[in-house]
Amino acid sequence: MTIPLLVSQMMCHNCATLLHLKDFYGEERRYGLASEIPLRCAGCLGVTYVYTSNDSTTKNFEKDRRSRVFDANSKLAMGI
Ligand SMILES: [Zn+2]
Repeated sequence: MTIPLLVSQMMCHNCATLLHLKDFYGEERRYGLASEIPLRCAGCLGVTYVYTSNDSTTKNFEKDRRSRVFDANSKLAMGI
């Protein structure tokens, strides 16, 4: 995980309110070395998911969550 990647995602996708890690809501979902962290917005109560690794297939975090290929897992498989 890189701090700039995490910081770039800390905004509600519904209303643009800044999110905080204390807004953790539900359960962390693991994808190998990557994680999906749900954060509940204090403004609109919507849930925004933040990720601990970039997605190799797209930089769009709204992509279908089932078909993600995270860089952290790809690098592990390639031995980088
Ligand atoms: Zn919001």
